[in-house]
Amino acid sequence: MTRATTTSRGYGASHQRMREKYKPLVESGQALCARCQEPIAPGALWELDHSDDRSEYIGPSHRTCNRRAGQAKATAARMAKAATTVRDW
Ligand SMILES: [Zn+2]
Repeated sequence: MTRATTTSRGYGASHQRMREKYKPLVESGQALCARCQEPIAPGALWELDHSDDRSEYIGPSHRTCNRRAGQAKATAARMAKAATTVRDW
C-alpha cells in the first residue's frame, strides 16, 4: 500500500487544485493581490498565497508581494535581534 505524502506537506493536490481554480481569474486580469490589493496583470508572476501562519489560503498574490512579506518577517526578526545586541553593547 502506498500513501501520498505530497498532500500532507501543503503543496500537494489541493494546492494545485486551488491554483487551477484561481488561474482563469488571474489570467483574465480580474484578480486582486491578496497582499497589496492591486490588480494582478495577466501573465504576471503570481502565487497562491497563504496566511502568515500558513493555516489557510488567502488567494492569489504578486510573487513580489509574497516574497516581500516573507522578507519583512525575516527583517523584523533580524532587527529585533540587532536592537537587543545594541542595548547589550
Ligand atoms: Zn501585490
